[in-house]
Order: sequence, then structure tokens, then C-alpha cells
Amino acid sequence: MTDEKTKGQLLAEDILVKPKSIGEGDNSFLAEASEFCEGYKRFLANKTEREVVEYVIPILKEKGYIEYVPGKVYSAGEKFYKVNRGKTILMCTKGRRPVADGIRVTVAHIDSPRLDFKPHPLFEDAEMAYFKTHYYGGIKKYQWTTIPLSIRGVVMLKDGSSVTIRVGEEEDEPSFCITDLLPHLAQNQMSKTAAKVVEGEQLNILIGSWPYDDEKVGKKVKLAIMAILNEKYGIRECDFESAELCAVPAFKARDMGFDRSMVAGYGQDDSVCAYAEFMAELDTVDPEFTTMTIFADKEETGSDGVTGMRSYFFRDFVEDLAQAEGVEVRHVLQKSVCLSCDVGSAFDPAFPEVHEMNNAAFLNYGPVISKYDGSRGKYSTNDASAEMMSYLLTILREADVQWQIAELGKIDLGGGGTIASEISVHNIDTVDIGVPVLSMHAPVEVTAKADVYMLYKAIFAVYNSTRPKDF
Ligand code: MN
Ligand code: MN
Repeated sequence: MTDEKTKGQLLAEDILVKPKSIGEGDNSFLAEASEFCEGYKRFLANKTEREVVEYVIPILKEKGYIEYVPGKVYSAGEKFYKVNRGKTILMCTKGRRPVADGIRVTVAHIDSPRLDFKPHPLFEDAEMAYFKTHYYGGIKKYQWTTIPLSIRGVVMLKDGSSVTIRVGEEEDEPSFCITDLLPHLAQNQMSKTAAKVVEGEQLNILIGSWPYDDEKVGKKVKLAIMAILNEKYGIRECDFESAELCAVPAFKARDMGFDRSMVAGYGQDDSVCAYAEFMAELDTVDPEFTTMTIFADKEETGSDGVTGMRSYFFRDFVEDLAQAEGVEVRHVLQKSVCLSCDVGSAFDPAFPEVHEMNNAAFLNYGPVISKYDGSRGKYSTNDASAEMMSYLLTILREADVQWQIAELGKIDLGGGGTIASEISVHNIDTVDIGVPVLSMHAPVEVTAKADVYMLYKAIFAVYNSTRPKDF
């Protein structure tokens, strides 16, 4: 036996791809990644788009970001941000080059699947009070029963003032949940398909059971609950008509596994990418090209509305930057590139049948790049060009960033789209990249810390690269 490699072994090393996990390549990486994820877990405490925007503004100010002033010409290294209706935020660091040479955009969404309240949510049935919900985004409804829920949102009162609500997660606060049928009487329920086991109109949150003390009124439990809400928040039933309230899982983000190598928590789709973007944006000091870090809303329902990525707010903002420097927005856009940062599906050995193993993403193999997504014959996909892939991969190689490339799952099993299409429609070369997730859209999702940190490194590399787009 000799240690010398054979011709075939050397050739294989030279010309074949041999994927290796981050931990196998650099076992000490987890320590650094864990440190990075301490801040990430705090970030996950913000569970709606409004909460995320509110959370990041003071941090931005502390880091020297100032609110964007239309028409102002920014100089290299200056940092600024613009908020759209409290639900979306654009954060920039001005590059050394004029915006006419293109900008470096990353976009992640900060809305997550949840249970929105109906406009008339409060009702009483069988002397119990409930909030009626209308689910937001793609959920498996049965997953949302019998878990602790927290109620979040904002209510506009008649006098024009607003009340922010965030209750159900702290030890001393009340909890809420949706009940489910006991197994003893579930014979019919258990024979239904999973889509029908719990239906939309059954997603009612139990919020009270004690009557108001007055013989003369009906629906005593409803009145008692409304009295509590009125006393605590100053709201009347009619104020629900001008409210945005929702229920989200009340779990706190936590380390997962004996080795603490993973994070378990709600809303990681897509707060995990938002956090990686955010940190890369904050840490970028003197970039060649202007960075634009976008937190978008409404991705889970199709990116519509004034705060979704189909809204003109993004293009209008780029146009403002362009005009201030005396150039046309279209000339800025065509030289720009965008990373659409959204989560991918991680291979789960409990469900191997949905993946094609040569094109599946694995935990701890780094952020997953998707050249395309969509469904069936690549319908509704932004399909990044070979040139765009090469551009990104070259930057990642230069920065020693590990990545993996995968599809969501097997052909014709389903599919999905991302914000990429909403960006590329503006003539910006765009590619999808994100952290692989287990149990995506479930009340608790799982990510690997090494992947989260590696995504940050990938975005930082793109923001700090001096490589112009030459295609
Ligand atoms: Mn997503
Ligand atoms: Mn999603």
C-alpha cells in the first residue's frame, strides 16, 4: 500500500465535484457561526413585518444611518434608509462609484405565514369567546392547533391614534390557542385528508370563558372580553375594522440539538435571510458599488399591495437615487445585480421521496443557490443566466464562501416562486440564494447555524466585491 494518489484519484479531484459539509471542511466554523446566531435569535423575537422594521431602525441610527432625503447626492460610505409604511425598509451604503455603474441589491421578506384576524374577529359560542382568523400564506392548517399563540398587531382607534398589541409570549402574560378534537371522538376526522383535517373556518382562537356579571346582557363572555380589551387598550369592537392583528406561534427562538448546531424558531422563512442581509449591510463600510438591502412585505401572499415587491416603491427609490446623480433609472437598473435571498428546502430523511439527490440541499452545506424555481416546466421562474451564475460564483470563490446549488424538490411535486421575478422584471440580473430550512412554514422551523453565517459571508462578499457586471 502506498499513500501516493493514483492517476484516477488525482483526475477525479481535479475535474469532479465532491460536496463536503462546512463542518467537515472546517470543524471550528460552528463556534463563530453560533456567536453570529446569538443576534439572530434576538432578531427572531420580531414576528411581523412591522415589528422587524421597528426593531432595525434604532440599530441603523446607532450605526450612522440617516433617513433618506430625496434629491440629496450622497458621498461614498454614507449610509441611509427609507421606510415604506412601517412594513418595508430599504437600507443603503453609498459606493465609491456613481449609481450609473449599477447597484448591488439584496432582498428578503419579513412577513411570514400566520393567522390574520378577520375584520369582525370577536364572537362567542357555547359560552366561550374566540377570535376568528383568516390564514396568511401557505400553511398546513392542522399544525396551528394546540400550540401557544401570541397576538400581535396594530389597531387604529376612532380618534386617529393607534395602539400596538404584542401579548401572549411572556411568562406573566395570558396565552391563546386553537383547540383540536380529542382522539377518542376523531374517527371521522382522522379519515380525512390532511388538507381537510382542520379547515380554515375552524382556526378560531380561544380567548375567554368567564361571563360578564350582569343578568340583563346576552353574550356575556364576549362582553367580558371586550371590556378587558377596552380597559387595557382602549379599543371598541368597531376598532377591529381599522386594525391589522394576527396570531403567531408564541415559541421563542432557541438553540436546537445537543450540539446546539441549529436554530429552532418561528418565521425563519424569511427572517433568516433578512438577518444575514442586515448584518452584511451594517458591516459594509466602503463599497465599490452602492448597496441596497431590502426587507419586503407580502411575499407569502404573492408580493402584491403597496408594501409588496410589485409596488413601485423600489423602482421609485432607485429613480430618486439616479436623478440625484443626473442619470436615468433604467441605466442604473441594467448594470445592477440582485440576490433574491429566500429560504430553500433542506433534505429531510423522513421524506426522501420529494428530493432528487443530485439536486437537493442539505443542512450545513452552506446557502443554497437556486438558478431557477417555479413549477412544472419551470413556469413563473426567474431563471438566472449562466453569466449571472458565473458572476456570483466567482465572487463567492474569491471570498472563500461555501455554497450549494439545488432545486426545491423533484419535478412536478409542487413548486414555488420567490421575489426574484419581481426584481428581474426591472431588468436587473437576479439569482435566488438562501438558507436551507427544515419544516418550512411550520410554527417551528429549523436552520443550521453554519448556513446562516455562511449566507452572511456570501452577501458581504457581494457587497464588498469590486467586480463590475460585464454581461
Ligand atoms: Mn420565503
Ligand atoms: Mn415562504
